[in-house]
Amino acid sequence: MSAESGAGLARRTLASLRPEEVEGRRALVRVDFNVPLEGEGASRRVTSDTRIRGAVPTIRALLARSAVIILASHLGRPRGTRVPQLSLKPVAERLEALLERRIAFLAEPFDERSQRLVRDAQPGEIHLLENLRFEPGETANDAGFARRLAAFGELFVQDAFGTVHRAHASTVGVAEHLHPRVAGLLLERELASFRRLLESPQAPFVAVLGGAKIAGKLETVTGLARRCDRVCLGGGMANTFLAARGLEVGDSLVERDRIPEAEQLLAERPEALLLPEDVVVAREIGPDAEARVVPVDRVPVGWKILDIGPATVHAFGRVISSARTVFWNGPMGVFETPPFDAGTRAIAEHLTGATEAGAYTIAGGGDSVAALEQSGRAGAVSHVSTGGGAALELVTGAILPGVVVLDPAEVEPVAGGAR
Ligand code: AMP
Repeated sequence: MSAESGAGLARRTLASLRPEEVEGRRALVRVDFNVPLEGEGASRRVTSDTRIRGAVPTIRALLARSAVIILASHLGRPRGTRVPQLSLKPVAERLEALLERRIAFLAEPFDERSQRLVRDAQPGEIHLLENLRFEPGETANDAGFARRLAAFGELFVQDAFGTVHRAHASTVGVAEHLHPRVAGLLLERELASFRRLLESPQAPFVAVLGGAKIAGKLETVTGLARRCDRVCLGGGMANTFLAARGLEVGDSLVERDRIPEAEQLLAERPEALLLPEDVVVAREIGPDAEARVVPVDRVPVGWKILDIGPATVHAFGRVISSARTVFWNGPMGVFETPPFDAGTRAIAEHLTGATEAGAYTIAGGGDSVAALEQSGRAGAVSHVSTGGGAALELVTGAILPGVVVLDPAEVEPVAGGAR
């Protein structure tokens, strides 16, 4: 597949299903119901249903096409054992309320009773399996577990963008047994958005990367530095690059073992990588901490870099404002704790400004999305991605195992114009 161009992301979709492929048949749908919960026992409840709402269009489309629906998801990291706190039961209750329809929750999906219930199910019925990660075979992509899971369905619908970068039984193993295997509506929208970003990005193509650490993101920086005209680096990850330039960064978060790689990258693409010029520093993270703006070469001993400064906001803002394509992942500072949220908020403003001026913009990753939502701006970018890790892998040109197993679609040029 031509992951470099994004063309390999063209997959068969729900709309392409012929009546005989879906009507009266059991659709096993991999959804992302990995939602935050609070409370104990019977009063445990979902605190944000964004991801559950995200799956509703696909569920409704399958209902309209008279399918039997079997939903499967993971929740948290129970590591192959039954952890009652990570049961999907509260999710079944929320989904019932959202759809105003009964959901049959299968607490013991692999016992004889559950299997019979699903085998005898009628079109329009919706079943939700208990947390897949209660089974060790899920993350191991165990062939036997994948076969048992596949027995629930006849066709396969993948709608969990957040997990397609992992080769698990419910993303890869299961698909081999089911036909057809297509992208759900949420996944379809994600793939179309990233195809547009990767296949025909209009120049200037700018990436803005932040977040705490570069461990695991260095590949992303390298990949984006090749692909983009400019890469703006902020957040904790920029500190390691500042240290690689020989600057003193006080008590800031730095990954010393990554400095050689950062040095190499700076040497390879000096004109593409943009680092902070000034930063907000404090001795401690806290709302009452004394915060100062200093040039990057004046970080006092014992102080920490906690946000980008106004000159950097201005410099990054100019680059973003003149861009035609922008990808943003990761906050510019410790945005959870004011006043260290100012840089991230300002970048969110610039991103929405660029979108209004006609740029194609994607924000991905939980924290950048949270920052956009905090500033009431999530609706003002071209696409808000639901998957952090999957988005980062995609923009680096990686092949997503949960996408390549789906049936390919005819490749059509994406909208957005050629470079
Ligand atoms: P990530 O999960 O890698 O996207 O990182 C998100 C986290 O990075 C957020 O919780 C921020 O508080 C944190 N962060 C951003 N900038 C800094 C910084 N300069 N120092 C420490 N943590 C930071």
